[in-house]
Parts: sequence; structure tokens; C-alpha cells
Amino acid sequence: MKMILGAIIIILFLLFVLYNVFAIIRVVVKWYFGDYLNKYLLIARLDPLYKKPLQKYLRYYKQLNPSDKVVFEKRVQKFINQKQFIARGMEKITDEMKALIAGAAIQLTFGHPSIYFTHFKRILVYPDSYYSEISQRYHKGEVNMGGLIVLSWKNFVEGYADNEDGRNLGLHEMAHALHLENAVTNEEYGFLDDDMLKVWTDLCFREIEKMKEGKSDFFRVYAITNSKEFFAVAVENFFERPGEFHDWNPKLYDTLIKMLNQDPLKLGRLG
Ligand SMILES: [Zn+2]
Repeated sequence: MKMILGAIIIILFLLFVLYNVFAIIRVVVKWYFGDYLNKYLLIARLDPLYKKPLQKYLRYYKQLNPSDKVVFEKRVQKFINQKQFIARGMEKITDEMKALIAGAAIQLTFGHPSIYFTHFKRILVYPDSYYSEISQRYHKGEVNMGGLIVLSWKNFVEGYADNEDGRNLGLHEMAHALHLENAVTNEEYGFLDDDMLKVWTDLCFREIEKMKEGKSDFFRVYAITNSKEFFAVAVENFFERPGEFHDWNPKLYDTLIKMLNQDPLKLGRLG
């Protein structure tokens, strides 16, 4: 009887010790790796409601290998969970809208697994071009420092209707978001390599000059507006016409590969 009682006490004591050891490990892991886990950990699987539009419309996603597809799906879900989608001038935001808008963001950041455009919490969607009181013009989309990404759904869809014309509003606006996110002081600050950015800026202004002199017409003329628009137009062409882009200006194309850490000609992440 005494032995049984002794064994029970020892077992209870061991369980107590084990419980506390695990509790301490949990606290330590959270303390040291909390930020890291939060950024990279992909727990939630993609809701099937969001998966269908990706399978139907997103060529980039369809071309990924099976393991990259799973990562892409989980990142889309994480992006959707983090953002507030707001309908303007229409009844509601559909699952398809959420999936494809998140898909555009994840396509662009697929080589940067911890980037979710944290600064941009809200995504406004209009049915068509919308009038801006500030610029007094109609817009198809914009990204502002207040943390808003604004899109015209009609133009967003048109961007994906033709995958090879080098025009894609979703990727264009996400490129602006990426550029700003890199510059805003937060946990995602400075994820683009400074030296690479300098190389890019140099190439960009050289190309803008050529375009102004009529010596280059691969990008549409809107790219000469400024370096930000040049980058956004370059991103559209990078994903929609990678082969032609590479043959036209390999240095510019290769610099974009290094900045985005992915090559659409090979698809998937590098390394
Ligand atoms: Zn733009």
C-alpha cells in the first residue's frame, strides 16, 4: 500500500515538473521567437471559397509546383485575415474579390515570405473608376500613405483577363504598396536591399531618359511619369511579359529578380 502511494506521489511530482518545464519552454519560445513565428508561421489553410477563384483566374498560382501552391494558399488566407475589405458604391465584397486581391499581393511578395504590407490595413473596392476630390480626376486605383489600397474592380478584372499585355492594375497598385511598405518605419521596414535599390534607381532614370528621347518603347509611356510609376509598370511587365522583358533589357529584368527574389520565367521562390 505504501509503495503504491509512493509511486503515485512520484508520478504526480514528475507530471508537475513536466508541466512546468513545458510552460517555461513555451514562454521562452514566445519571448524569443514570437515576432519571427508571427511573420513566418502559416497555420490556417485556405478556405475553399477562396481557392476556387485562384484556380480559375490566377495563372501565376496555377503554374506553381504543388508545395509552393500550398504556401501560396496559406499566405493568401493570412493576407485576407489581416485586412479589412470595404465595398464602395456596391453592395459587398465577394469571396472572389478578396481571393484575387490577396492573390495579387502574394504573387508580388512570394519571394519575401514575411511581407504582408502591414502598413495597409484597409482595402477599398469600387465597382469602376472613381472620382477623387483631391486630384479632381477619375482613378482606377491608388495606394496612399494613410494605409489605404484603393481599386476599381472592373479594371482589376481587366488586368487578369489578358495575362500577356503587360497591364495589370492589381499588380500595379501592389507594386506601389510594396515600394511604400519598404519605406515606412515598421517591422517590415527596409526589406529591399539598399544597394539593389540604388542599382534599380539608376537603371530606372536611364531608361526614363531613353523613353523621353523616343529611343525606348517597351514600357507604356505612363512609366515616365516618375520612378514610382516606372517601378509599378515594370512589375506589370515582369509578370505578364517576362520573356520579352528579359530579352529587351536583361540588366533591368535581373535587378527586378533580385529585388523581388523571384523569377517569373522559372516561377516559385528562389533558394
Ligand atoms: Zn501607379
